[in-house]
Amino acid sequence: MSVDYDVVIIGGGPAGSSAAAYLAKAGMSVAVFEGANFPRPHVGESLVPATTRVLLETGVMEKVEAAGFPRKYGAAWTSSHTRNVTGGQASTLTHELGAAEILFSERDQPGVDRDYTFHVDRSKFDLILLKHAESLGAKVFQGVRAMAVDFDDPEKVTLTCRMGPASVDVTAKMIVDASGRQTLLGRQLGLKEADPVFNQYAIHGWFEGLDRSSVANDPEKVDYIYVHFLPISDTWVWQIPITDTVTSVGVVTQKHRFAEANKDRDAFFWEFVESRPDLYEALRKTEQVTPLKVEGDYSYAMREICGDRFVLLGDAARFVDPIFSSGVSVALNSARLACRDIVAAAETGDFSRSSFARYEEQLRNGTRNWYEFISVYYRLNILFTTFVADPKHRLDIIRLLQGDLYDESEPEVLRVMRETVTAVEEDPSHLWHPHLGTLRAPVLAPAF
Ligand SMILES: Cc1cc2nc3c(=O)[nH]c(=O)nc-3n(C[C@H](O)[C@H](O)[C@H](O)COP(=O)(O)OP(=O)(O)OC[C@H]3O[C@@H](n4cnc5c(N)ncnc54)[C@H](O)[C@@H]3O)c2cc1C
Repeated sequence: MSVDYDVVIIGGGPAGSSAAAYLAKAGMSVAVFEGANFPRPHVGESLVPATTRVLLETGVMEKVEAAGFPRKYGAAWTSSHTRNVTGGQASTLTHELGAAEILFSERDQPGVDRDYTFHVDRSKFDLILLKHAESLGAKVFQGVRAMAVDFDDPEKVTLTCRMGPASVDVTAKMIVDASGRQTLLGRQLGLKEADPVFNQYAIHGWFEGLDRSSVANDPEKVDYIYVHFLPISDTWVWQIPITDTVTSVGVVTQKHRFAEANKDRDAFFWEFVESRPDLYEALRKTEQVTPLKVEGDYSYAMREICGDRFVLLGDAARFVDPIFSSGVSVALNSARLACRDIVAAAETGDFSRSSFARYEEQLRNGTRNWYEFISVYYRLNILFTTFVADPKHRLDIIRLLQGDLYDESEPEVLRVMRETVTAVEEDPSHLWHPHLGTLRAPVLAPAF
């Protein structure tokens, strides 16, 4: 049966363009249909080192390095109690107070050849990845919106796209949905389940001239990502360097707080930032260079992430809360793992669901582990900072933060953390009991 392409990909974000690069490199004919015209802005600017392996394997790393994105060597967390803690004492002094920091170089990572990753302007980063896929032979169509996929013919799939007023049908042996939070196939096939616990809401923008050292645990480490905790439960601020002088800042909180505050987004943003006077003072001295943008309703899972002649990648497959900057690494690694199965399926000619079973298992491991880690973190923040400071657990935590999460169903350290949370929940006299947060994730809920 003749088809237009071996594989058609919906969406040219990091997941779609990495998949296109892997498949084109393997000699398959592949087309990407991207609704926007790149470059386009996108949230999700701080990477974790698990992206490195994919950037190397697809061959785009050199172009990413050449773009001069700020290098990210580590991550730091500050709490509202830890102002003005400086220098080498930071990690010992601050752990009791709710702050922490890690360096990626503390743990060697398989497939990763450098001790840093990047903070990226996504309009530039995503364009580099998409152009790279094109340079490897993938056909890229921008400004073309995928509308629906027809699975009626057991021998092929047909994607209907819209180009301005025109509608076009394209056929392929299989379809890859990398449409991000639009979740085209998840919605079409009724696979999507909203997260029962996390309903976070983010307001973010770019600021010129932030004195990053004034709000850092250590003024030497201003190029880390900073997560600043606000004295409001489950609420934090990200600080991500975009260039030498531009910093991305976002407030993340529970969505109901925004509705209850009944304020416009700017007033809400500044009121929340003001709860951390050190951050507020520093941010007030900057120039805001983009309007504040809102992201909401972003946590969900899919009951299936593959099926006969389709796989879902990246945000189209699963979205977990962004507290640990996991999204782009999930997008890239989902492309890596799925494409291994897709190439094998092309060799046997069997594009049925069972051909993608290994992908499904590994992606579910990865996202479930991120989810458990995030749930424990929100539930008992102090446990995270204590484990980071404990030599017995530190490297295992760094491994999670690096994004090495796909190969086992539950890393030992996560099990220990989960059991500790349960013990604290069950013992009202426990020293940490008053520190329990309000978000409580169900353990191992079906799609989650
Ligand atoms: C508040 C917030 C903060 C975040 N912070 C981070 C962070 O610091 N680090 C991190 O790694 N991640 C972060 N993320 C997550 C990150 O944004 C995503 O995980 C990542 O962009 C996923 O990549 P993707 O390729 O799956 O989807 P996307 O990057 O969203 O790409 C999907 C593409 O598909 C296109 N598309 C959609 N529908 C169609 C259609 N019908 N037809 C054609 N094209 C279509 C879109 O235009 C888009 O270009 C954050 C997310 C949020 C909400």
